[in-house]
Amino acid sequence: MSQKNPQWEQEIAKRRTFAIISHPDAGKTTMTEKLLYYGGAIREAGMVKGRKNSKHATSDWMEIEKKRGISVTSSAMDFEYKGHRINILDTPGHQDFSEDTYRTLTAADAAVMIIDVAKGVEAQTIKLFKVCRMRGIPIFTFINKLDRHGKDPFELLEEIERVLGIRSYPMNWPIGMGSHFSGVYDRMKSRVELYQDGSQHEDIRFFEVSGPDDPLIGERVGQDLWQQLQEEIALLDVAGDAFDMELIGKGELTPVFFGSAINNFGVQTFLDNFLQMAPPPSPKKSSVGLIDPYSHPFSGFIFKIQANMNPAHRDRVAFLRICSGRFERGMTVKHVRLGKEIKLAQPVQFMAQDREIVEESYAGDVIGLFDPGIFQIGDTLCVGQPFEYEEMPHFSPEFFSRVMVKDAMKHKQFQKGIMQLTEEGTVQLFRTYPMEELILGVVGVLQFEVLEYRLKAEYGVEITLTRLPYQIARWLEGEKAALDALKNKTVTDRYGRPVMLFESEYQLRMAMEKYLNIKFHESSLGL
Ligand code: GDP
Repeated sequence: MSQKNPQWEQEIAKRRTFAIISHPDAGKTTMTEKLLYYGGAIREAGMVKGRKNSKHATSDWMEIEKKRGISVTSSAMDFEYKGHRINILDTPGHQDFSEDTYRTLTAADAAVMIIDVAKGVEAQTIKLFKVCRMRGIPIFTFINKLDRHGKDPFELLEEIERVLGIRSYPMNWPIGMGSHFSGVYDRMKSRVELYQDGSQHEDIRFFEVSGPDDPLIGERVGQDLWQQLQEEIALLDVAGDAFDMELIGKGELTPVFFGSAINNFGVQTFLDNFLQMAPPPSPKKSSVGLIDPYSHPFSGFIFKIQANMNPAHRDRVAFLRICSGRFERGMTVKHVRLGKEIKLAQPVQFMAQDREIVEESYAGDVIGLFDPGIFQIGDTLCVGQPFEYEEMPHFSPEFFSRVMVKDAMKHKQFQKGIMQLTEEGTVQLFRTYPMEELILGVVGVLQFEVLEYRLKAEYGVEITLTRLPYQIARWLEGEKAALDALKNKTVTDRYGRPVMLFESEYQLRMAMEKYLNIKFHESSLGL
């Protein structure tokens, strides 16, 4: 065990690693762009692009990246801002919503939840929120698109509490909405941030007030909106939750901010507050107890494996979240599962349109490792005494298909392909009993197509997929005898753990009522 190193300590303490959770179209990409802009990362990235010329080979995903201006396939974006090092982990959300999206959350120390003011809490947000909840990480809420007419703010807070089960503390409060949107009142700092359509951050006007009843507010936003603001703040003060940093840290209270990402309104305020409240990397559970990020030498775990980053090379990249100490290029580390030492010669970090070779990184950072096929989701890499971080959980898929190889002669390639591709973790593999038929489960239905395509392209195997009517999987926990008695009704996951599949919530409820001696888990976390 190495000693605390003062330089590491500073580096690690300034890191903030988080993921954005939201439903498609709530404004995640827009928000990410604005955040990168504050870090100066977008401008720099533009320069990098200008320096390189068009001879640079581009692939489809790079094209998409360019169009969007930021990376859609890379796993983390990092930038410096006001003395902090910020790592935003990408949570694929549209077509490519998959288990990766959930797993990414296991690598985050905090989550930012973006909610569309008109739509409120939507399906995908609920799913991602649940994962954050299980991990007990702090969750920060940004209610977006206040320039459009939406739900009443009180209604939204009530919805967050009712649907997600988390209490909230509005850090600021909107003054009007839609065409009447005039700004926000900052409850902590007692100041007003005036909204101007299309304003950039330099133009946003702040003014200090003595409180919500300061007549200055009325002069600037009009008497009606001022009146309404006073009433609403009074109601919040009386009936709302109190600010409590401890509850925020445990993910039991979410600070709420209102704004409009596209107009860059409220984004900087959000970022500044977020940096103050979000935690730096904290100790993480392992097979030998808690691993302290500051005093323990380098360690980390693989949370995502991505294939075909460069279609020309069919390479895979494994993404590692560093959990302790310092990483240095060329370092030799232990690959604990394989019991082997490996040299990390060419780690990469991804920023905007560029991959850059990493020379050094610290706990909190994410690095990409070229993977010749030696990594699996959940693998621990470390130096010193070997240990393993907790197993990466699996989450309930929502679409299921039986899979068979078309040409029985290719059974071997099929087995190999299926095993390798399911190891990447976007598709789960189950076996039926006693026939040992293979069932695939995915969170996003596109994954079936990706798997079919890749089996053909990379392994020369054609498959037949038959969609099954299941929608839910539950990992079972109970006495061996009780589980054995259900063997005919269950399938097993890749680790041989019993799992039951259901066609509806109703079926699940019936089973839970019938088998009282069995616990039904939504994920394999902790099993
Ligand atoms: P994502 O799917 O969550 O990444 O959402 P995007 O960032 O791509 O945004 C979805 C749509 O909402 C785009 O057309 C954005 O221009 C728009 N949008 C984002 N933020 C705002 C906002 O503050 N106000 C309005 N009116 N539109 C917004």
